[in-house]
Order: sequence, then C-alpha cells, then structure tokens
Amino acid sequence: MSVLVFAEQQGGELKKAAFEAVTYGKKTADVLGVDCKALVLGSASNAAELGKYGAAEVLTVSDASLDGFDGSVYTSAIAQAAEAAGASVVVLMHSAKGKDLVGRLAAKMDAGSAPGVNQLPTNDGAFRVKKNVFSGKAIAEIEISSANKVISVMGNSFQPEATGADAPVNELSVSLPAARISVKSVDKVTGSVPLPEAELVVSAGRGMKGPENWNIIEEMADILGAATACSRPVADIHWRPHHEHVGQTGVAIRPNLYFAIGISGAIQHLAGVNSSKVIVVINKDPEAPFFKAADYGVCADLFDVVPKLNEALKKFKAGA
Ligand SMILES: Cc1cc2nc3c(=O)[nH]c(=O)nc-3n(C[C@H](O)[C@H](O)[C@H](O)COP(=O)(O)OP(=O)(O)OC[C@H]3O[C@@H](n4cnc5c(N)ncnc54)[C@H](O)[C@@H]3O)c2cc1C
Repeated sequence: MSVLVFAEQQGGELKKAAFEAVTYGKKTADVLGVDCKALVLGSASNAAELGKYGAAEVLTVSDASLDGFDGSVYTSAIAQAAEAAGASVVVLMHSAKGKDLVGRLAAKMDAGSAPGVNQLPTNDGAFRVKKNVFSGKAIAEIEISSANKVISVMGNSFQPEATGADAPVNELSVSLPAARISVKSVDKVTGSVPLPEAELVVSAGRGMKGPENWNIIEEMADILGAATACSRPVADIHWRPHHEHVGQTGVAIRPNLYFAIGISGAIQHLAGVNSSKVIVVINKDPEAPFFKAADYGVCADLFDVVPKLNEALKKFKAGA
C-alpha cells in the first residue's frame, strides 16, 4: 500500500506547493506505515527532487492529451496511477486543478474525500483529517471510513521539508480517454508571485480611492517580493484585475504575512485571508472590523503611512 501525491507542474517545473504536498504525503504515509509515491502529469525537469521531500518513487505520464487541463482526462490518469502504485490514499494540492479533481477522483475511486485539509491525519483506529469551515470560524474533523481516500491540502499549510535524496523517475503507461476540452489560448500573468503560492501578500481596498494610487502598493510588494491582492469591490470596479480578489468569492490564501491596507475587514473578505499567519492592518478608522483580526494594526491615513513604510523597508533592505 502507498500514499500517492499528485505533484503539479507548470511549464516543465514543479510548483512550490507540489513540494508542500509531497511533504504532507510523506508524513501521512508515516502515519499509516506505508510508502509515499509522487505522480507528475507531463514532464518536470526537477521531478526527481520530489525524493528529497519524501517520495520513494516518482511516476510520470507524458501524453499530449494532458497538455491542456481536462479534469476527466487527469482523473483517469491519476486513478490509473493510484492503482499502479497500490495507493489507497491520494493527496492533491488544493489548487484550481485540485479543487476540480478532488470530487471527480473520489467518485472514480469510490473514495471518501476531504477537500482543503490543513493538518496531518490521525489514524488511531479511524482516519481523521481537519479543515477550516464556516469562513475559518470553526474547524471540522472529518473521519474517512472508506478504503480509498482522496484529500486536497491547502497551500502554505506545510513547509516543504527536504531530508532525503533524489527519487527514481519512472514513466507509467496508461490508457487515457480523448480530451473533451480543447484549450485555445492561455493568458498568463507574468513577472509577479502567484497569489495562492505567495508567502507575503500586500493587499488593498477601496480606501485607496482610485487605481492611480496603486503605485505605493506595488512599490511595497516589489520591495518585499510579495504578491499583490485586493478586496472584491476593487476588482468589481476594475481598479485591479479579478485574479487579485481575495475572500469568500475570490482566492483563499494562507500567506505568512498579509498586509491589509484601506480594507474594512468585512466577513466575506476575512473568509479568504484569516488563515494568514500574521496580519497587519493599516486603516484610518479605529472601528474598522479588520483590527479585531489583526496581529498588528496601524490606525492612520494610508497615504501618510505607506510611503514612509516603503522608505523604511528600502533602508532596512539596503542595510541587511
Ligand atoms: C455574497 C458576498 C460575497 C462577497 N465576497 C467578497 C470577497 O470575496 N472579498 C471581498 O473583499 N469582499 C467580498 N464581499 C464584499 C464585502 O462585504 C465588503 O463590501 C468588501 O470587502 C469591502 O471592501 P473594502 O474593504 O475594500 O471597502 P470598504 O468597505 O469601502 O472599506 C474601505 C476601508 O478603507 C478605509 N480607508 C478609507 N480611506 C482610508 C485612508 N486614507 N487610509 C486608511 N484607511 C482608509 C476605511 O476606513 C474602510 O475601512 C462580498 C459581499 C457579498 C454580499
């Protein structure tokens, strides 16, 4: 028996969250007393490195039908790989692809599933995992009693831990259905840290007054090497692109540090960011709800504070 981790690649390189997922998969395998194996669909030049994070073997499937993302084709490939690896537990990343796959794969493998877990399972007679529910206000403990199990792991829940050596990489032969989705074009955001993977996020809201003022937010993100994010109304009125919108109806993130600048902290916004490890709020209204969720708060005009903070950060970085 083994645990199989689907490690996503993009452009021939494994994503950072793939190493987190394999670290999680290895620790899950240890809990169950079995091996951890990894699966890469398409090619990744650094696939063997998954061995350092706990994969005893890396299986790859190269097939033209995997070039674009069709959930039914990916599901078929992962289910066949799980069978070949003798895996009854499959770990996915809780990415856009992972969210699409978790239910499909569970149905295909006749498995119980838990999407978006953020803690290691326990296996004291029953296999249980935990995840945040009700916009992060409660933690659900889910027991999966079926023989097969499919789990997706929230990004930034586990730091990748490199301990071992490279793993052997073996091509797996599978029979895939024809893709029913054809990808005509892909618009990629380039030059910035992808929001779901970012460890540092600088986010701003309607307090910015207009898109022309975002230069101070971008400057702070540049200095810190952070991703930029925004509240929903800001994306709705086209001050910022929609992929930056975080919250209940946007991207859910768990960075190490989240700056919330000129954002009120409505429950729908907090739902996507309140798992951040440290939250810093800059808001001129002392009654802004975000202060209740903040680790550090600055109650002041952002147009006064942010430029000064940027200068201080530049000096700090230059001296470091
Ligand atoms: C079904 C539903 C789903 C939703 N999903 C989301 C979601 O996913 N994400 C999301 O963000 N919202 C979501 N919303 C909207 C949410 O309820 C809030 O309306 C929104 O988050 C408010 O955005 P904001 O904080 O940028 O703007 P505002 O509420 O207008 O707050 C602006 C803040 O900036 C501060 N400010 C103003 N000027 C300054 C200054 N000069 N210096 C410092 N501070 C200043 C103000 O004090 C205020 O706190 C959803 C709403 C609904 C009903």
